[in-house]
Amino acid sequence: MKEKKLGISAYSLFFEELADVLNELGMEQWRTEQVWKWLYSLRAGTWDEMTNLPKTLREDLGNKIGSLEQTAGLISKVQEDGGTEKLLLRMHDGELVETVVIPSRKRRTVCVSSQVGCAFGCVFCASGMDGVIRNLESGEIVAQVMKASRSIGAFPDNIVFMGMGEPFANYDNVLRAARLLNDDNGLNIGARKITFSTCGVVPGIKKLMTEGVQFELSVSLHAAEQSLREKIMPVAGRWNLGELMEACREYTSKTNRIITFEYTLIEGFNDGVGHARMLVKLLEGLKCRVNLIPLNPVEEFEGRTPSMQVCESFLRIISRSGINATLRRSKGLQVDASCGQLRKRQKHHFEF
Ligand code: SAH
Repeated sequence: MKEKKLGISAYSLFFEELADVLNELGMEQWRTEQVWKWLYSLRAGTWDEMTNLPKTLREDLGNKIGSLEQTAGLISKVQEDGGTEKLLLRMHDGELVETVVIPSRKRRTVCVSSQVGCAFGCVFCASGMDGVIRNLESGEIVAQVMKASRSIGAFPDNIVFMGMGEPFANYDNVLRAARLLNDDNGLNIGARKITFSTCGVVPGIKKLMTEGVQFELSVSLHAAEQSLREKIMPVAGRWNLGELMEACREYTSKTNRIITFEYTLIEGFNDGVGHARMLVKLLEGLKCRVNLIPLNPVEEFEGRTPSMQVCESFLRIISRSGINATLRRSKGLQVDASCGQLRKRQKHHFEF
């Protein structure tokens, strides 16, 4: 049997690295450009689609780098109102990850997973309900974007690391994937169009501020008070709200960049006028914006989605304080779209 190159994918390579591989295979430099074009511009799904490469080269590439289709193979695709497309993808070892494409009038956003599962166990999030299985390789993250591009027949404008997993628990692979996506040889997605979303992993925030990169940072806050936050986000026991906000303030002053705070509204828990005022107070003087997300109900969590009226009055309080805030009203994300929900359902489907 042929040796399988696990955990490495053509999409984990920068142009120069692919050139080295081709060089080792005795190929001339111009072949790299040809293969690269197939990988990115032409969105090839298999080595065999690269019809102007000699058959032996296609085989050699498959043996050396691994087949293209073993990473991010499409298991299922669900299309929703508003055009949101949810892909369930299978990695080389059979693990499943979710990738979501969210179109809007002006742009297409691809939401990628950074891990299989998640270790952080936020109570309302389907991704963490079975713990973490493994980190995704950088190439497995880029492959999700390419698979999504293939599926919609276009390249994305924005990438958000808001699928399954905690990006800062897989820091190096996530940063490398973001750099690959940003690379002007490849997809050339602007750094400011690539967003990392963290549940509050303080060392990750601190590390990111030293990188000198322009990637965007989102922080999932969900409560403006330690005692409340702890109840739904175990991560708050590890890095408390005080430490988190201190790191955020340091981040904005060091990088001169804005942070987006994600706030999932849960009925009767964190959606009151008092909660909104507390949030305003917490964020006072911080360069930030707030993104309110009405809870996507999940089976395993008894919390409910507040009425639109409640969400809107929460929004008004935040906006009136001068903080730039938005409320996600999109239907597309209402059904099953929250990170991990699709995989979880599919897993049950497979298991039983
Ligand atoms: N681990 C990262 C990124 C993944 S989740 C993080 O926590 O930021 C992306 C966002 O979706 C987070 O803000 C997360 O809290 C939110 N989310 C997860 N499940 C949700 C649900 N059921 N309803 C609403 N938002 C949810």
